[in-house]
Amino acid sequence: MAESDSDVERFAFQAEINQLLSLIINTFYSNKEIFLRELISNASDALDKIRFEGLTDKSKLESQPELFIHIVPDKASKTLSIIDSGIGMTKSDLVNNLGTIARSGTKEFMEALAAGADVSMIGQFGVGFYSAYLVAEKVVVTTKHNDDEQYIWESEAGGSFTVTRDTTGERLGRGTKIVLYLKEDQLEYLEERKLKDLIKKHSEFISYPISVWIEKTTDKEISDDEEEEEKKDDEEGKIEEVDEEKEKEKKKKKTVKEVSHEWSHVNTQKPIWMRKTDEITKEEYGAFYKSLTNDWEDHLAVKHFAVEGQLEFRAILFVPKRAPFDLFDTRKKLNNIKLYVRRVFIMDNCEEIIPEYLAFVKGVVDSNDLPLNISREMLQQNKILKVIRKNLVKKCLEMFAEIAENKEDYNKFYEAFAKNIKLGIHEDSQNRQKLADLLRYHSTKSGDEMTSLKDYVTRMKENQKDIFYITGESKKAVENSPFLERLKRKGYEVLYMVDAIDEYAVGQLKEYDGKKLVSATKEGLKLEDTDDEKKKFEEKKAAFEGLCKVVKDILGEKVEKVVVSDRIVDSPCCLVTGEYGWTANMERIMKAQALRDSSMSSYMSSKKTMEINPDNSIMEELRKRADADKNDKAVKDLVLLLFETALLTSGFSLDDPNTFGSRIHRMLKLGLSIDDDVSGDAADVEMPPLEEGNDAEGSKMEEVD
Ligand code: ADP
Repeated sequence: MAESDSDVERFAFQAEINQLLSLIINTFYSNKEIFLRELISNASDALDKIRFEGLTDKSKLESQPELFIHIVPDKASKTLSIIDSGIGMTKSDLVNNLGTIARSGTKEFMEALAAGADVSMIGQFGVGFYSAYLVAEKVVVTTKHNDDEQYIWESEAGGSFTVTRDTTGERLGRGTKIVLYLKEDQLEYLEERKLKDLIKKHSEFISYPISVWIEKTTDKEISDDEEEEEKKDDEEGKIEEVDEEKEKEKKKKKTVKEVSHEWSHVNTQKPIWMRKTDEITKEEYGAFYKSLTNDWEDHLAVKHFAVEGQLEFRAILFVPKRAPFDLFDTRKKLNNIKLYVRRVFIMDNCEEIIPEYLAFVKGVVDSNDLPLNISREMLQQNKILKVIRKNLVKKCLEMFAEIAENKEDYNKFYEAFAKNIKLGIHEDSQNRQKLADLLRYHSTKSGDEMTSLKDYVTRMKENQKDIFYITGESKKAVENSPFLERLKRKGYEVLYMVDAIDEYAVGQLKEYDGKKLVSATKEGLKLEDTDDEKKKFEEKKAAFEGLCKVVKDILGEKVEKVVVSDRIVDSPCCLVTGEYGWTANMERIMKAQALRDSSMSSYMSSKKTMEINPDNSIMEELRKRADADKNDKAVKDLVLLLFETALLTSGFSLDDPNTFGSRIHRMLKLGLSIDDDVSGDAADVEMPPLEEGNDAEGSKMEEVD
């Protein structure tokens, strides 16, 4: 990869990065100014890293004790430099981070751009450095890490970059200097006013001093009084009348403009979380949120609070408007809450500070009680951190409840983060009931809107004890399920749980407001009946006992038992699963998880019970035929067909769709009165056994869709 030319090594940019660079250089973007925010944000990250190392090992800071970000415009050379005294990069960091290893976000960002995203979103995708090429034709990065020599990275894009050891240049001590050779039409970024405005706008909340090297012109008189005196002495003797006014003017003429330089500190505000909430404007919160997260949009909600007493900390928490593109990417480290101790940044990927399901919440926490030199290992055990975590969760839930007061906002929130809430219900037993208040579902009665469990309860019928729900793949798939027939007829509302994670969440939730959550597709669905209804049902049950036995004999191991049902109204039969086993939907989800451990499936996989509808004409006819002749071949074939159809309508998948197909075709021929005895009839074909769906071969076939 590297071609060596004395000390200069040349590297090719990784293909995707190269593509990204071409896009950045060749596409017109109006929002070029964000490059500065990105580079300052990188500088701040680098400073965070060295400061953190310095907490446990002071000697790491010795190479450059001061922590700063300097911005130096130079009109003569048309360069803008961004210098930080952060951690710096070793040679291999340079090669890897700036060109040869693409981040997962590289491709995603290009796709986002193609889909119309704004270039300012670049930071969210972890490729912010390359935004330098929005304004620069050449970029030179000089960097010094404690563990390596000083190196120079240089590139005009165009496919490659070079890395050279820097033995002669100005010594950095430690840190990174990025010099941008600005394009001719981007020279406005050398103007002091412009730079200061940009820093105020985008980088005000960076917690290190950002100073701009500014030019100062002062009026200075070159003539001084002493000189004047001497002159006078020399000219003694030929004294003329000295006109005072004239003399003054003479002096004035001698004042010249003198140019000097100095640092001008731009981000002078104290940390926003230390300020009083009523003194902070919405815009300031928005600006802080953006600087914290690289988001280009404002936050959806904010919670700024202080905890006082035995333990003291301050925090600001934000809920974004959207989920990030990699919300559930487990490879990504969580770094959404920045932890400070007495205003000093400690770390931004402290996993203990907030539970995983709240990983989408962003913010800062500043503790007065944690020791400054706390290590990651110490944090895991730390009691103070546990209390902070508990408080953060509490405040998050309060914040969500506040969002719920505004329907439009809550819809946005729920669309983005419903999965997280459900994950919370699964994982956080302490807050389960509070989280349950945040759930929203479509239901048989909710129309286009979604309903909360709380609202469901207010609509419950007088004699209704349980909350009914059905799980499945989509609203469409469950809406007309046979399982809902009787519930609907009786006027009971049923919630549609059609998110894969609902299965897990509802399995943990079990009840809400003292009411049991009952699946419409599982055994043991009991509905309140009148005595008359009960009596009628008992009579039917007795009448169909014989058929139940015949059906069970035909289906054998395919079903656990066959019973007369009171849950279906129109369909001939359905398949229900055990109260504690997997539902059909769960079976589908588990099958889709190709890498899962298959040991669970053997006993969790649903034992199915066939429920038959005594009021259905097909069943009635079957009963008559079976009563007449137990071994009627047509009965056998029809029962198998009914079973397979019930698998489908009850949400299961077919293990052997071909046999099912043959049976249907045979029915079609019957319907069309085609006498087909040339090829073997489907009924004569020996039926391959229908497996329960948990054997390896069978399930693999199903996973494909
Ligand atoms: P991100 O900062 O989101 O990780 P970038 O493309 O902006 O992505 O930067 C890539 C990497 O280059 C950073 O993760 C960091 O390791 C390194 N880097 C960039 N700028 C600096 C800097 N000023 N000091 C030290 N390392 C830096």
